[in-house]
Amino acid sequence: MIGRFKTVAELVGQTAPDMPLHVLRPHRLAAMARSFTAGFPGDVLYAVKCNAHPLVLRALAAEGIRHFDVASPMEIARVQEAVPDGVMYYHHPAKSPSQIQLARRAGIRHYAVDCVEELEKVAEHGGDDVVPMVRLAIPKGTGAVYDLSTKFGAAPESFAAVLRRAEQLGLRPGVTFHVGSQCLDPEAFRLGIRLACESLDLAGVAVSTMDIGGGFPAYYRGTQAPPLATFFAVIDEARRQWAEPRGIRLLCEPGRGLAAEGGSVLTRVILKKPDSIYLNDGIFGGLTEVYWGKDDLSLPYRVLRDDGQLRQGAVRDFTAYGPTCDGNDKLPYALHLPDDVQAGDYVEFNLLGAYGREMAARYNGMQSDQVAVVEADFAGHMTAEA
Ligand SMILES: *Cc1c(COP(=O)(O)O)cnc(C)c1O
Repeated sequence: MIGRFKTVAELVGQTAPDMPLHVLRPHRLAAMARSFTAGFPGDVLYAVKCNAHPLVLRALAAEGIRHFDVASPMEIARVQEAVPDGVMYYHHPAKSPSQIQLARRAGIRHYAVDCVEELEKVAEHGGDDVVPMVRLAIPKGTGAVYDLSTKFGAAPESFAAVLRRAEQLGLRPGVTFHVGSQCLDPEAFRLGIRLACESLDLAGVAVSTMDIGGGFPAYYRGTQAPPLATFFAVIDEARRQWAEPRGIRLLCEPGRGLAAEGGSVLTRVILKKPDSIYLNDGIFGGLTEVYWGKDDLSLPYRVLRDDGQLRQGAVRDFTAYGPTCDGNDKLPYALHLPDDVQAGDYVEFNLLGAYGREMAARYNGMQSDQVAVVEADFAGHMTAEA
């Protein structure tokens, strides 16, 4: 952490950063945490994989989010360090025996499974009070930018078989699913809750907890999704119709929806050519997700001069390259930048509090991991919003 600043202008003025900087806005994380804890009809976990920085974990914990979805020994260690009394759920459906044993020593009881093999592994290594969370696959095409049910999740028949085997083993399972990341349609959650309850009835197995995953959207440029409050309202309707009569309590485990607004990446222009700029961060660094999400995750951005003042002249298209020598290191869309943008300027990309720093590689000796805290909101992006 290089310091705490009132504004990005102050940060630039005082430190003239030459490395890409991950700007954290803990007050935005706190605000998002409050909207989830106040709006979601159940307990809120945080999916650590989208941003495991201690300042993020602590900012969320301070607002009452003390349950964490982890998927590796490293994530377990990070939660233990930042929030020692945090409660963890190991919701990765493929774990080695030693990872389960390590998690058990860390006090973890809940483990995602999506097949009998993983269930038996968790039952063997997870301890007597282990709670397998059986993951249901969600049908394709339910409104998410990223499908998370191709790699993990059991189809309804095997879902039922895993649940029955858990009962045979004397365990009391829960269920979980993930509608896909950046889900734009709240009906996907209603469908998931209904499918999970119907599959439970079919299996003849009763559970007391259902974790409806993450997938809550962040509002990128052009994102067509209703506000979070609508997601919560639809989920609560489905909860009352399907879960409550069966005595099932809901959990959720958002990553993106909680954390995206909590951070930005401050890049610097290294070189300007007539129609292109070369930035000090790119798709192998803090902007990795731009490569995967393309126009579906179109980030707001703004240009600052090296004295920290906004550049606000007439804009035109520039091709934007990242810092490595790899020809693929190019943003998938043109940036609309002021004509007089120049080397030494900064381009700040917002909504990278989730899947920003966490995904950065160190390709070509380029590093994107420095962090600064800024108290002011991101404002003044280049193009008018729809
Ligand atoms: C990635 C992931 C999440 C978080 O998903 P978002 O779309 O960022 O909310 C939650 N749970 C599991 C199991 C995940 O793999």
